[in-house]
Amino acid sequence: MKLDEAVMIAVNESHQSNAKYHLGAVIYSANKFVTGHIRNLHCTHQRNATPMNSVHAEEMAIQRALRIEMNLNNSTMVVVRINNSGMFRCSYPCDECRRLINSVGIRTVYYCK
Ligand SMILES: [Zn+2]
Repeated sequence: MKLDEAVMIAVNESHQSNAKYHLGAVIYSANKFVTGHIRNLHCTHQRNATPMNSVHAEEMAIQRALRIEMNLNNSTMVVVRINNSGMFRCSYPCDECRRLINSVGIRTVYYCK
């Protein structure tokens, strides 16, 4: 898979997000890919909402990859964040996702800048 194809897939996946920011992720290797998006697990007006109340796009993609026993060694992850007008916005991994990404062996990670 080429990087621009992966970006398009991540953008499509970001439309599944139910959070304020639309984030989509794709992990791909030689012959497989999985996707994930950010999903809030609570109402957004809940007073003490924290990032822990959501599944991050990276986390969902990794969970899906592990479920199908995809080999993540040397795989590539692309994460995009899109605003309501469909424009790319910058994003970066939270500490939790960074740890997770490192622990499963994903080699290369792209975020939009
Ligand atoms: Zn995260």
